[in-house]
Amino acid sequence: MARYIGPVCKLCRREGVKLYLKGEKCFKDSCPIQRRPYPPGEHGRERRKKLIGYGQQLREKQKVKRLYGLLEKQFKNYFKQAERQKGITGENLLRLLERRLDNVVYRLGFASSRSQARQIVLHGHIRVNGRKVNIPSFLVKVGDEIELVEKMRKNVFVQNSLTLSTGRGVPEWISFDKENFKGKILRMPVRDDIDANINEHLIVELYSK
Ligand code: SF4
Repeated sequence: MARYIGPVCKLCRREGVKLYLKGEKCFKDSCPIQRRPYPPGEHGRERRKKLIGYGQQLREKQKVKRLYGLLEKQFKNYFKQAERQKGITGENLLRLLERRLDNVVYRLGFASSRSQARQIVLHGHIRVNGRKVNIPSFLVKVGDEIELVEKMRKNVFVQNSLTLSTGRGVPEWISFDKENFKGKILRMPVRDDIDANINEHLIVELYSK
């Protein structure tokens, strides 16, 4: 599946928020959005205009899409799936994104960013219920056990990621057995489990035009 391969720090600067796309660097003083807190490009230093209407909706959609490392088509497909489900479409959308296997691997702290988590999954280092799953978009369900393969447990990147993730913690809908590098899905994520800094209703408004 295609993915964005351009400079990721520019994405944070464009959205005006930290999207934590670079792992360890995101927590250092060298994080570009801290040093240059304005959009990239020639006119980036000009004062950020206050967005309303379509502009605001578009930026919110781009922010969430980039946060989860998706391309437009993939993101839109999640939206369509969310629309078909019962309940509030915006919340359904966030729930679907959270249930992606690469996101769960990131949430467990095996990776310091979602893109690193995606690589771990793609390389076959993750087992779900004892079976290898190398599809980052695989959607976990209640009761699933997600485990890092033994040969990766002492990997320096994994160890660093686990140290880095201590601060952010594991969300309540997943239990984590740190000793055995294993997580279990206890329940579906609810809105309160997910980043409060997302206005999903703006995305719904955008796609409902
Ligand atoms: Fe964003 Fe991380 Fe780059 Fe900072 S270092 S701009 S948070 S991706």
